[in-house]
Amino acid sequence: MIFISALALGACARTPHQPAEVRAPVARSTEPPAKHPPVVVALVVDQLPMWMAVERWKTLPATGGFRKLLVEANAIAELHHGHAFNATAPGHAALFTGGPAHTSGVTANGKLDARGTYESFLADPTAHIVNATGASDRTSSSIASLKAATIADSLKHARPGATVISLSMKDRGAIFGGGRTSDATLWFDSTSDAFVTSTAFAASVPAWAAPIATPGAAAKYRTEAWVPLDPKWLAANTDLPAPDLGQGDFHGLGKKFPHDIAKAAKPAKAFVATPFADKMLLDAAILAVDHVAKQSEPALIAVSLSSTDYVGHMFGPDAPEAWDQMLRLDAELARFFAHLDEKLGKDGYSVVLSADHGVPSTPEVMNQGFCGRPDADKYERRCEHAVRMRGSELAKVAEDAVDRAVGSGEWVLGYVEPFVVFRPATRALPKDKLDAAVAAVAQSIGALPTVARAVDVRANPATCPPAKDESLDALVCRSIHGGTGGDVFVVPKPGCFVDAEYVEGDGVNHGTPYLFDRAVPIIVRAPVDASVQLQETMPSLEDRAIVDQRAYAATIAALFGIEPPEAAIGGADLSKR
Ligand SMILES: [Zn+2]
Repeated sequence: MIFISALALGACARTPHQPAEVRAPVARSTEPPAKHPPVVVALVVDQLPMWMAVERWKTLPATGGFRKLLVEANAIAELHHGHAFNATAPGHAALFTGGPAHTSGVTANGKLDARGTYESFLADPTAHIVNATGASDRTSSSIASLKAATIADSLKHARPGATVISLSMKDRGAIFGGGRTSDATLWFDSTSDAFVTSTAFAASVPAWAAPIATPGAAAKYRTEAWVPLDPKWLAANTDLPAPDLGQGDFHGLGKKFPHDIAKAAKPAKAFVATPFADKMLLDAAILAVDHVAKQSEPALIAVSLSSTDYVGHMFGPDAPEAWDQMLRLDAELARFFAHLDEKLGKDGYSVVLSADHGVPSTPEVMNQGFCGRPDADKYERRCEHAVRMRGSELAKVAEDAVDRAVGSGEWVLGYVEPFVVFRPATRALPKDKLDAAVAAVAQSIGALPTVARAVDVRANPATCPPAKDESLDALVCRSIHGGTGGDVFVVPKPGCFVDAEYVEGDGVNHGTPYLFDRAVPIIVRAPVDASVQLQETMPSLEDRAIVDQRAYAATIAALFGIEPPEAAIGGADLSKR
């Protein structure tokens, strides 16, 4: 914590507080400043690749949230994440700090405990779940594993009276947006069937959040079956009923429409993979907006929308479910933006929307849709005979390799994306034997037809190439942080991935360095002067300027008129036209 505080202070100490330098876009406004202090809504759509935004947003209705955001935007760009393992925790840490995994220390979504059992990367045995009835005995998550300052930390430092609220269906979606001293960091807990926080952040949930943090609060979002919102629109864009696209059956939710959550084996768990979870999350965000509207200080409201990710994982991004998810999210965002207009005024808030990572099509789609083409498309999608790998198989290959190299034993604790993890006794081997073990694992896994590269974590340089270097070497370097996470870093070939095991053997996963996983949109909408007529046509997303992940926190800092966190310094400022 001392190290972290020094980082945060260091970032601020370099440049003393400056007056707000960011105004509404010059082309639009000569009006006095906004009546409310800056309110920035930092949206993250979990699993929103640039390829999907380019191909699908143009099909969305004129009344939707994405169109409103694009029409009102002062900047639309393509954001390239700077690390090779593109997943939720590293991606959110990158957006909110500006730093890739090498800098943030957040190298993975999960880690293995001493017995090799998977747990959240953010799991903290000293932290406990807190819902509206108080703290429970169940352990929870904290921000202790983050090694860099966040934009929320910068805001709290520069404007101590500011309000910071962060919301997501996932702990790893909420925690980085809230930073170290948020007013509320809340995520969904299926056991409580409600939003919760952790004792690492607060002893209780704030009163304004009671409607979504009272145990059982999510039940009212599951009263209807999930069916297509607009069957005609869906039929125009997809094949209904869909052929076998690799869809999985998540907790009894079923592979095809209709999805009756009430009939699922575990409704509170299946809930997250439906658009109704985003509806609950945006209801929570509306409560947050109403709360900050009463304050007279700046506010950051971070909202990470998780349903798109879960739906993509279970059904694949080409399934009718994924299309319907986007249409329903679009409608929910329209409702949310209308509430912002009403409560804060069009000139009273900003929105910065981006994504933590993208996604490829399922192997079933990739192997048909992209075979026969001579080259990859601009998002590196191509036929590579995509295959789902299993983490347990990678662990077995690694164990056998070490057995051959240094003798029979129990050497490998397991595989947790993106790492092969050695047991402590393996790491304690004499240097020559450890070197031989690592080399054997890298050689055996690297030789698999599904693997592009297997890298010795210990050999990673202390300093990685700058953000403009998007070579595989640079991306891999920026995915590794000391010995955090594991021992051998595994890069799949394009289209191949390690099964997320939400539904074993079905669905899809991300987590690779290719542009289908690494390139996402970033849309910035600074306060809008209501008297200015905006162009009504939907701007194209094609061929947009490319920025790196620092742009997200750097732009939010500029909207507040404060210094960005240290890892975001030098990032593109998209707050002006
Ligand atoms: Zn995901």
